[in-house]
Amino acid sequence: MNNFAYANPVKIIFGKDTIKEITNEIPQGSKVLITYGGGSIKKNGVYDQTVKALEGFEWYEFAGIEPNPHYETCMKAVEFIKKKGITFLLSVGGGSVLDATKFIAAAALFEGSEPWDILSKGSEIKKAMPFADIITLPATGSEMNNGGVITRVSTVEKLAFSSDFTYPLFSVLDPAVTFSLPARQVGNGVVDAFVHVMEQYLTYSESNSLLQDNMAEAIVKTLVEEGPKALSNPDNYDVRANLMWASTWALNGWINCGVPQDWATHMIGHEITAFYGLDHAQTLAIVLPGVMAVLKEQKSKKIIRLGREVFGIQGDGAIEKTIKAVENFFETMGVKTHLGDYSLGDEAIEKVSKRLADRGWKLGECHNITSDTIKEILTLRK
Ligand code: NAP
Ligand code: FE
Repeated sequence: MNNFAYANPVKIIFGKDTIKEITNEIPQGSKVLITYGGGSIKKNGVYDQTVKALEGFEWYEFAGIEPNPHYETCMKAVEFIKKKGITFLLSVGGGSVLDATKFIAAAALFEGSEPWDILSKGSEIKKAMPFADIITLPATGSEMNNGGVITRVSTVEKLAFSSDFTYPLFSVLDPAVTFSLPARQVGNGVVDAFVHVMEQYLTYSESNSLLQDNMAEAIVKTLVEEGPKALSNPDNYDVRANLMWASTWALNGWINCGVPQDWATHMIGHEITAFYGLDHAQTLAIVLPGVMAVLKEQKSKKIIRLGREVFGIQGDGAIEKTIKAVENFFETMGVKTHLGDYSLGDEAIEKVSKRLADRGWKLGECHNITSDTIKEILTLRK
């Protein structure tokens, strides 16, 4: 096991009817800005519950944060915050609204030339406004981590950031708010969480971090068992609750303690979304089976272990069977797994591999994924 330091300051408030608890969690006297997306919270009652819980606070709202949130939109929110003297942000929505809110919190207090530098140059975040969230889509784990991903429309880029200052103060997880999710977002969420675990588990590592590996498998087993049930039996509260908690744990910093991490699937996926606008999870469902196939020697012990522990696969051809089982699982969740399913082909392969080559990043846990490797991965996924 590698050395590590671990801290996670996020208070989790989990369960039915917990939105009302924000009244006592938001610092008294705060001037609150609710941030939200395209309006799902107005249809499922979450907005009304939030507004009721904010009685007594001076509060404002900033709507219209889009999926794969835009830098341009975040900067409009920063302007609004400065104009109104807002002191606390409350994200109400999915991972996109929360990622945007994290970025807004940092951008509002950024002292460099422009906040885009945080994303494009990795400029350090030295402070951020306090913020919290009511998460409505189990997927990203953003509710218990310090990261975010922002898209700049003008330059067609989707880039990630993280900092010690961008952990939520608290996160409200009420599984009942996820009943209103369309099947597409249920599937997306399960696939995203599944791939988060893979990025931290499916490496060259030979299971010398047993607790993390066992825990990673427990999260994935939960997703594989409960994911299809959320589609076939969408009103089951316990299924929703298990999925919500598993998604949070898939990316809250715990299972990456002391282990190597991959993240190539996410980095390649971000470029596909930036260029072609696919949902985040759709890109992951395309790329992960390709990463597994092309890097199967490096990752062989873990692929075999994943197959045995999660999908009950043993014996000859275990690696190929496990890759197929992963692909089948994504398809079962309604997320298509080939570029062609989204009308993409050679042009996309060229563009994405060239962009990543231009960035000069060395992807994967062994930093050995070149532009040619990316081409090979994507060509397998046509
Ligand atoms: P999302 O983009 O936040 O939301 C997708 C859609 O679901 C939106 O149209 C939203 O509608 C709708 N929605 C959300 N909650 C709903 C509910 N309860 N009922 C009905 N509709 C609902 O999806 P996401 O998967 O959570 O976030 C994706 C983003 O997170 C991507 O940009 C991805 O790159 C990023 N990401 C972040 C991390 C991280 O660690 N921070 C990790 C992985 C991915 P409204 O807009 O109308 O609300
Ligand atoms: Fe993700």
